[in-house]
Amino acid sequence: MISDSSGQRPTIMKPELISAIRDIVGEEWLLSDRDPILDYLIDETTPAVLPTPADDVIVVKPSSTQEISNLLKFANENGIPVFPRGGGTGLVAGSVPTSNGIILSLERMNRVIEVDQDNLMMTAEAGVTLLSLKKAAAEAGLSFPLHPGDESAQLGGMVACGAGGASAVKHGVISDYVKGMEVVLPIGEVLTLKGKLLKDVAGYDLMHLLIGSQGTLGIITKVTLRLHPELKETITLVIPYNDRYQTLQTVPEILQEGIVPLAIEFVERNLMEKSARKLGKSWSVKAGKYYLIIVLAGRDRNILLAEAEGIHKIAQKHNAIDTLIVQNKRKQDDILNIRGKIYFALKPITMDITDIAVAPSKIAEFLSELDKLAAKYGMYMPVFGHAGDGNLHTHILTAEAGGLERANLEKVKKEIYDAAIQLGGTITAEHGIGKIRRKEFKRYTDKKLLGIMKAVKDAFDPNNILNPGTVLPDEL
Ligand SMILES: Cc1cc2nc3c(=O)[nH]c(=O)nc-3n(C[C@H](O)[C@H](O)[C@H](O)COP(=O)(O)OP(=O)(O)OC[C@H]3O[C@@H](n4cnc5c(N)ncnc54)[C@H](O)[C@@H]3O)c2cc1C
Repeated sequence: MISDSSGQRPTIMKPELISAIRDIVGEEWLLSDRDPILDYLIDETTPAVLPTPADDVIVVKPSSTQEISNLLKFANENGIPVFPRGGGTGLVAGSVPTSNGIILSLERMNRVIEVDQDNLMMTAEAGVTLLSLKKAAAEAGLSFPLHPGDESAQLGGMVACGAGGASAVKHGVISDYVKGMEVVLPIGEVLTLKGKLLKDVAGYDLMHLLIGSQGTLGIITKVTLRLHPELKETITLVIPYNDRYQTLQTVPEILQEGIVPLAIEFVERNLMEKSARKLGKSWSVKAGKYYLIIVLAGRDRNILLAEAEGIHKIAQKHNAIDTLIVQNKRKQDDILNIRGKIYFALKPITMDITDIAVAPSKIAEFLSELDKLAAKYGMYMPVFGHAGDGNLHTHILTAEAGGLERANLEKVKKEIYDAAIQLGGTITAEHGIGKIRRKEFKRYTDKKLLGIMKAVKDAFDPNNILNPGTVLPDEL
């Protein structure tokens, strides 16, 4: 290990280290000047909770698994922290470098390697964006229905986060799609895990251990995904209500009826209006204060229309005002786009977002706890999310926007998390622990479990060079 005269960890800016790294990735693919690096120091985490990025970092953009392997071997031997970075759309500062080191961007590894129509599989490099992989699947007459929010997210990033999103009700979250993976371990070894098999239980399932590990166990370089036949027909329902408990009480009944939509989203009307305004559009549904937005997808329109009728009947029992059936593809895309951009409309006035999940039958109960909290602190707390998965996002707004005094932020977050945990839920359904929820992770996790996770981390990354300060608390 190279260390400075004080015996501390090396500063990455040392010319001899930079020169060795440049030899691995090539002159043009190493950034060390501050200005071009600035965009790599943040992700989509709200500024109020974003940790301070380190000063002494470089960005490297390798083009192959071999380069990544050489790079990690070098970093490991020299004790240099490495921060994997995908599209930078994460919401928990997972890719933010909080100590001096190397930001490893996968952006150049962006090839779709194969779409295997016979087996409904796609293999792609980790840096392929969600937009490109959806397009590649569609061009082959197949579909990758998952949509975790921002289409500039990369495949490796989505896998590293265990991403979910709006379209996870029918086919599951990303871990239900991943069938094979290539990964580079922090010591530089390359592992190939599983492949195109639908069944494979040979040994421990390390591949699923990597899913959701947020760049702390290995760099994902290649992924094989299971695709679905093209979902030729889609229908989007907008169901307005005046009462949000009744809105949410509809959800478990739809699922109990055996109707499995692609997406069941819960939103407030004013959030759709706000998001539409931000996009320069308008939101035309004026009835009700709350909506379920439900996407039905399949191959036969008549079946979808019959399901829509079934949902309408259930919604009526819960005093829905109406059921609007949208069949025009462009209008459906518009609705989902407006829904998907609520985050950006709220970001300037948001201090923090929570990402809890409870069982779908418990979401109305969870919501009543949120209402008590909002009343106690005299604040408005927008809530929306993936109701079909029991996953709700709560935005804690700034005091100026009718939200909360900054001094009460930690207290309120604790009360939200306590409520979710008491209902058998989790503090994070899809965004992850990252760098900003480690304290809470420790608070709500069994010490034995944390100990096992630490042992797993040590086995993969004995020198703790990969994304330090992420997921696991410093002290167990
Ligand atoms: C508007 C908006 C809406 C969103 N909606 C959703 C949603 O509905 N559901 C949802 O799940 N998420 C959502 N997200 C969060 C985000 O899009 C996901 O977390 C995404 O999966 C992260 O991908 P990324 O490529 O941007 O990763 P980054 O943000 O770059 O990194 C995320 C984590 O993955 C690690 N990582 C990245 N690439 C690799 C790799 N190749 N190997 C190993 N580790 C790696 C990083 O170190 C970091 O810890 C939303 C974000 C935005 C901005």
